[in-house]
Amino acid sequence: MTEWGFETKAIHSGLIPSQHQGATAVPIYETTSYAYDSAQDIAEVFEGKKFGHIYSRISNPTVTTFEQRINALEKGTGAVATSSGMAAISTALFTLVAQGDEIISSKSLFAGTFLLFNRIFKKYGVQIKYVGPNDIDGIRAAISDRTQIIFVETIGNPKLDVPDIEKISRVAVENKIPLVVDSTMTTPYLVHLKELGAAIVIHSTTKYITGNGSTIGGVIVDLGNFDWKTCKNSDLSSFAQQCGSDFALLISARRHIVQNLGNCPSPFNAYLQCLGLETLAVRMERHCSNAMELANFLNHHPKVSDVNYPGLKTSPYHEIARTQFKGKFGGLLTFRLGSKRQCFQLIDHLELVKNLANLGDAKTLIVHPASTIYSECTEEEMAHAGVSEDMIRVSVGIETIDDIIKDFDQGLKEVNS
Ligand code: PLP
Repeated sequence: MTEWGFETKAIHSGLIPSQHQGATAVPIYETTSYAYDSAQDIAEVFEGKKFGHIYSRISNPTVTTFEQRINALEKGTGAVATSSGMAAISTALFTLVAQGDEIISSKSLFAGTFLLFNRIFKKYGVQIKYVGPNDIDGIRAAISDRTQIIFVETIGNPKLDVPDIEKISRVAVENKIPLVVDSTMTTPYLVHLKELGAAIVIHSTTKYITGNGSTIGGVIVDLGNFDWKTCKNSDLSSFAQQCGSDFALLISARRHIVQNLGNCPSPFNAYLQCLGLETLAVRMERHCSNAMELANFLNHHPKVSDVNYPGLKTSPYHEIARTQFKGKFGGLLTFRLGSKRQCFQLIDHLELVKNLANLGDAKTLIVHPASTIYSECTEEEMAHAGVSEDMIRVSVGIETIDDIIKDFDQGLKEVNS
């Protein structure tokens, strides 16, 4: 059989109806544990001699369907779903990094990831070396014997800078270091990270993958590009010698980290994420086209400055984004209004657009990052992330574009200097 296209996989992968009483909608297995006919059977599952679910903190059939579906889209070796995007990032890091190790990370990061690196991992003796996302020489210079991973976001949130993943993965491969990429902003629809050489992709499935602001979730996919037998983490490399490279990272993430931290997803959330995946392709098209139109409108508005969207030719990342994301540029944009007061005036006068701290929802969302998502960050951390006091972030939804533009038009009329 020929390989299915993206949209077909997003609807059908991971579910064989005959194995689920003929159900074609993903069944929700709301059960903690799984009974076996004999003591010998369950012992063999525990020993790993036979495949089977044991306890839903470790695996669950609804969650497995979601993992298989997203893995089919990323063309990886497998996936481990988690309770949130942050849980996916921390699980990947706990699997790969130990005390005394180093991480090279892009400077431009989502606030939660910054705080995880700077507050938690630093406290446990992991050093983070921040480098500009396209500073290839800087990345090379930062590598040491202790570097366990290179970490970037496909589109930095909220700086909207776009790293050249292929170039970075070449450096990573030369140095036998896995490149871990947070593709929350792009989803598997906009970028094929396996083809670009990344080792692991992470998504906050809370965003575009679920797509309607109904649930929190995350996932890690091993793209099969990295031989874990050669990684510098000695626990993981010896584990890969025993169980093979294809599944070493994922088994270790599931059995050593998720099982013990307990940051597993609920079956109901996995079900919502499967539903979200079914329409991901059509939604991403609309997010991208609406964002392009809103960016053009704001770019010509006299009260607005510094509209930042990779789709605008003025963005220094326009060309990288165009080739890397197949002519599309995502659904997030930022702009400046001159002061925090003016940002608040706009937000308070919008009628359709919702003021909240999320992105990737079908609804258009607005937030003032400095006073919300980045309020716990130092000034230096904010500057790293490209956040200023007069910056607004918009996650462009899939409503009728004329209605979105009309709302900004009327809101901006209420902004005075
Ligand atoms: N990665 C990126 C790029 C994000 O924007 C976010 C949240 O906004 C996360 C990770 C964390 O995801 P979650 O909120 O699902 O924990």
